[in-house]
Amino acid sequence: MEFDLIGRHFTRATPGAVLGVGDDCALLAPTPGMQLAVSSDMLLEGRHFSPQDSPAGIGHKSLAVNLSDLAAMGATPRWATLSIALPEADDAWLTAFARGFFRMADQHGIELVGGDTTRGALTISITVIGEVPPGQALRRDGAQAGDDVWVSGTIGSAALALAYRQGRLFMEQIDAAKVLPALYLPTPRVALGIALRGIASSAIDISDGLLADLGHILQRSQVGAALEFAALPTLPVAQAYLHEKVAVGCVLAGGDDYELCFTAAPDKRDAVAAGAQSAGVAVTRIGRITAESGLAVIDADGQPLPIDHTGYDHFAA
Ligand code: ADP
Ligand code: MG
Repeated sequence: MEFDLIGRHFTRATPGAVLGVGDDCALLAPTPGMQLAVSSDMLLEGRHFSPQDSPAGIGHKSLAVNLSDLAAMGATPRWATLSIALPEADDAWLTAFARGFFRMADQHGIELVGGDTTRGALTISITVIGEVPPGQALRRDGAQAGDDVWVSGTIGSAALALAYRQGRLFMEQIDAAKVLPALYLPTPRVALGIALRGIASSAIDISDGLLADLGHILQRSQVGAALEFAALPTLPVAQAYLHEKVAVGCVLAGGDDYELCFTAAPDKRDAVAAGAQSAGVAVTRIGRITAESGLAVIDADGQPLPIDHTGYDHFAA
């Protein structure tokens, strides 16, 4: 597409790269001895955001969801590429999009080193590259029976906001205003992921919902888990809606939270707390890993909630 468009909106100084935007390839020099962590996520209009969403918010979220994957791996963000298809060269839209994108990039020390720009239905595809010391990445396959299961921040807010937006859950406007930022301006837990290196036995970011994403850890680690519903951290405002099945489903199986779910041995509790404090993020113990496979969620009366292992669609519905 127009070179001046790329120059105006997406060309910034990249002191952390040998060569950034403007040539056929970017040139990157990894820190000697570090492993590279690479991840891509694509966002489509109509599926991940809607046409009326703020372009700055779309810029924020599209990089945030990618950074969340680096966070879940315990990797330090370094570089990103951005491929964007848009119906027309809309300068105002691109200016706002770039503002949201670069604010998130600057917060996490990530440099945009390349990409592609083309005409088409609005689509954003980002690849992020981070670094992690050998052997210290937080993988999905390290959970052990007896480990604690932890989650950062609060969960369910983004799904509550989406349910409200889609008219599936009535919320007072003043309450909805408290959950909407989780949907549109998620915070990737980058500092926490780095702080958990050498402490967590496994980790994943919650993009598809707690049960589904913890399910990936259980499957890869060949273990099970027992969670306590009452222990799940939510925003205070969510409590007022938990008599609704839809709201319970948002907490257990709602996507788009981008919190970290991780496991750690019980003798690491103090280290987890210290790491979380240094990262400035609350963490909550929500259950434990079991040797038997399967995922159970126990309610306040000690009764198992009716969930299944297939993705919990009837909760997410
Ligand atoms: P080529 O035809 O060689 O692929 P392009 O015209 O697509 O080159 O891109 C020119 C330069 O601008 C390249 O360095 C590319 O990485 C960069 N670039 C293109 N689009 C973007 C974008 N949306 N964000 C960042 N860099 C971009
Ligand atoms: Mg190109």
